[in-house]
Amino acid sequence: MAPFTYTAQPTRVVFGAGALQQLGREIERLGAQRALVLSTPEQADSARRVAELLGPRAAGIFAEARMHVPIETARAAREEARRVGADCAIAIGGGSTVGLGKAIALESERAGFPLLAIPTTYAGSEMTPIYGLTEGGVKKTGRDLRVLPKTVIYDPELTLTLPLGLTLTSALNAIAHACEGLYAYDGNPITALMAEEGIRAAATALPRLCRNEHDLDARGDALYAAWLCGSVLGSVSMGLHHKLCHTLGGSFELPHAAVHTVVLPHALAYNANAAPEAMRRIARALGTAQGPLSAAIGIFDLARTHGAPTALRDIGMPAEGLDRAADLAVQSPYPNPRPLERAAIRELLQHAFDGTRPG
Ligand code: NAD
Repeated sequence: MAPFTYTAQPTRVVFGAGALQQLGREIERLGAQRALVLSTPEQADSARRVAELLGPRAAGIFAEARMHVPIETARAAREEARRVGADCAIAIGGGSTVGLGKAIALESERAGFPLLAIPTTYAGSEMTPIYGLTEGGVKKTGRDLRVLPKTVIYDPELTLTLPLGLTLTSALNAIAHACEGLYAYDGNPITALMAEEGIRAAATALPRLCRNEHDLDARGDALYAAWLCGSVLGSVSMGLHHKLCHTLGGSFELPHAAVHTVVLPHALAYNANAAPEAMRRIARALGTAQGPLSAAIGIFDLARTHGAPTALRDIGMPAEGLDRAADLAVQSPYPNPRPLERAAIRELLQHAFDGTRPG
């Protein structure tokens, strides 16, 4: 076996239907007394439920999380944490809410200000030390262990309300982390195991959720996939796919999970010949036939069969933005199995714009 380096992330995970009931015990375990509960405005009811469960340990609710963590929102949340004397934050929601919790943990005056995350989508942010902040329309990201949640409670019951459209795209967002993790230059056998199992669990959950979006067992499998794929994202470097999605999401304000869903098959087709072992493992996890483009086609078909978007034009991308997106994708170097070639990336974007099936 080739030598490798693997760093385990020190997050405690409590998983299972009904796991939210263990919140009080988990907050006590963190040694916290006053929790500020975070959510989006749409999930304010969930935040109130969490505050009720906490009783006297709830210091307040800040239900103003927004996509991509605008700096103004982060400042307002930090101010609220200070005002109510919070000694920890609880984020209930998707990547936007977890991202807000990370912004508070990053700038907290108290060293080791703990964040407890209760994810309700499959974005996976709760398992990463990656934070993002948007200022003046530009999103900057960084890595800092202070933002990694100390505890994550995964309760599939809380995902029963996730609309089917977001269920599909969010699960494909998770799969994207695992796919790029399988060809990461700093990948290792442990993250590869998590990646392959994560893809398998997500891909087998989706058809069941399309038949019955309240299938709790399938919801559990999808959340388990989110955990595994998020761990991969937090451990190894991402490549062209994540760069393109970051660019398209940030510069053209496209919905995060939908962009991942549309771009992934085309990014995999771009990298297919440069990362054959990763493609073999992705196809195996999807349960599709083996071939150079099986991974790309498998992901495309998984999305299309279940009614997820497959074309950038259908999710708000302007055709005249494709050239600029290609320019931005090659502006600064980053690791990717196949070298970054502007003309080929422009072609990739055209396929993604049109929704062409790879191959
Ligand atoms: P989101 O958090 O923006 O949620 C989308 C919408 O769905 C929100 O209105 C939310 O309230 C609602 N929602 C979430 N869960 C729900 C549920 N169970 N029932 C009903 N409604 C629910 O979307 P997302 O895709 O989870 O997160 C996207 C953001 O996360 C982006 O800004 C992305 O950059 C970031 N992200 C960061 C990391 C990281 O490691 N830092 C990883 C993945 C994503």
